[in-house]
Amino acid sequence: MPGINAKQGQDNCPDIAENLRKVQREIAKAAGDAGREADSVTLVAVGKAHAAARSRAALEAGHRVFGENRVQEAESKWPELKDAFPESQLHLIGPLQTNKVRQAMAIFDVFETVDRPKLAAALAKEMDRTGRRPDCLIQVNSGNEAQKAGIAPEAADGFIAQCVGEFELPIKGLMCIPPVNEEPSLHFALLREIARRHDLPWLSMGMSADYEIAVAFGATHVRVGTAIFGPRATH
Ligand SMILES: *Cc1c(COP(=O)(O)O)cnc(C)c1O
Repeated sequence: MPGINAKQGQDNCPDIAENLRKVQREIAKAAGDAGREADSVTLVAVGKAHAAARSRAALEAGHRVFGENRVQEAESKWPELKDAFPESQLHLIGPLQTNKVRQAMAIFDVFETVDRPKLAAALAKEMDRTGRRPDCLIQVNSGNEAQKAGIAPEAADGFIAQCVGEFELPIKGLMCIPPVNEEPSLHFALLREIARRHDLPWLSMGMSADYEIAVAFGATHVRVGTAIFGPRATH
């Protein structure tokens, strides 16, 4: 297009279908190298901070599983997309305040960030009220970072038992976001070990920079944004 610098044009309009194919290929390869089936890994396409049109492009390319980190953003983008693609599935991958549980329950199909008793109780109550039982994952703050959400690793065993036993939540597995400057594999191994102790089948770990490593460590869900939708505006 005249007047538009080629690089900028590309950043603004990434080839989402091609990116999805590439990431799926890499996942299949990492799975194969680890002796796993490619379809044992679900790609959660993270469209946060991008226009709804980008998620729509991924839907049109046949992709169905998505992640958003904010309730309000999901509410502005997804009702329309779900009308057009009713079999699409939306994962909440960001922190959830208890006063947003009702809104979140209306739009998300999987909750990946259960991380404290107060939230677990609020989710259980809303599930009882609505009769919905979306799958839940417990977020573990594997690096014990003060600024990050998630249950501390040393408190994880007790919290998992409480979510299952006391709150009777449909807990499927664990999720983590490793510290940016650390070797992610240590965190992936820790998450896998905690899940194994509780017989939890799902591990949500790995993002654009490290999803192949996560697959090698047993990820069943990788959450990939930038590699599919391009860079986000920083804010
Ligand atoms: C933004 C985000 C991702 C995707 O990150 P990329 O590096 O863009 O792939 C994954 N998980 C969570 C929890 C996120 O907030």
